[in-house]
Amino acid sequence: MSGIDWTRLASWEAREAHTLGPWAMHSAATAGREHPEPPHPFRGPFQRDRDRIVHSAAFRRLAHKTQVFTGADGDYHRSRLTHTLEVTSIARTLARALALNEDLVETLALGHDIGHPPLGHAGEDTLAELLEHDGGFNHNAQALRIMRLLETRAAPFPGLNLSREVLDAQATRTRDGTAPAPLLETQAVDAADSIAYDTHDADDAVELGLVTLDELHDLPLVAEAAARARERLGTPAGPGRRRAVLHALVDLQVADLVAESRAAIERLGVDSVARVRAVFDGGVGGRGVRVISHSPALAAGKKQLEMFLFQRVYRSERVMTVRAAAQEKLARLFRWYVAHPDELPARFRARAADCGLPRSVADYVAGMTDRYLEWDHDRRTW
Ligand code: MG
Repeated sequence: MSGIDWTRLASWEAREAHTLGPWAMHSAATAGREHPEPPHPFRGPFQRDRDRIVHSAAFRRLAHKTQVFTGADGDYHRSRLTHTLEVTSIARTLARALALNEDLVETLALGHDIGHPPLGHAGEDTLAELLEHDGGFNHNAQALRIMRLLETRAAPFPGLNLSREVLDAQATRTRDGTAPAPLLETQAVDAADSIAYDTHDADDAVELGLVTLDELHDLPLVAEAAARARERLGTPAGPGRRRAVLHALVDLQVADLVAESRAAIERLGVDSVARVRAVFDGGVGGRGVRVISHSPALAAGKKQLEMFLFQRVYRSERVMTVRAAAQEKLARLFRWYVAHPDELPARFRARAADCGLPRSVADYVAGMTDRYLEWDHDRRTW
């Protein structure tokens, strides 16, 4: 065969022209990068952003960072990396169902948690305390530091030099009020994050014996998922039952979100990115209006599930005990590096001149995996 029209068949411009709604962020409309770069022959700007995140050290280290449970809890449960991949999977489904920019959604999902320090929110809380008088610590802000400054590539500037839209999306998560209203792609990833963790944390908690499936079934949202699973699959016994219910729980949330968001796009006349932003900024009392959102009934069901998980899982004795021990190690190591700056890797030592020693130590420690932190702590005599 000759004379194949590859531009028509395979270019991102052609793909987007066919698949994106007018409410989506079109790649051609990107505000570009802080440091201008020539276009790539066949990858669009957000495809390149996604690849930069996947190839980053911060992304790889998610494999050995805690989501909720640590490595000491076995090897069934989610790590920060598998959480990220589940979010990405759900977010891509949403992107296709809502005619959003799938490349951008994938980029935002893969990058959304790269700022997490070791030990998940336990590590974050400890660093926030240690930096109380030095600007604080927040995993969403840290992700921005990684993207803009800390990751190094073979380029004459620091950071990943990502597209403006990716940085803005991450900035909306810091809630410091400086970011523009979130694109629908950002809203979809936020919703996918919540669907993923509400479901997989319940699954992990049952596997680890913190709660039983029957207790979960007392929650209306899970009961509804169980009813749907029964409709489709009958009543499987044992682990098959749990899987069927949890799959149905994801499906239920995704289906609700798609139906509600499609209806909202029509009802609110969302026909451009400008309109997405106007709708968001039109919220009363500074609360943005999200086009990508659940029905009130499903949102209420999620709230109940989240309360249950908070009390029975995130604040369980088992999680809290591990958390306290890990926090002590992290705090001790942080103080040790502040007292021994010469022991920092050269680039963190050099950066301390610009951002101050506590911040640079936090950057270094936050980049550690759970197991590296453990190793670096335990090899010293205290
Ligand atoms: Mg997340």
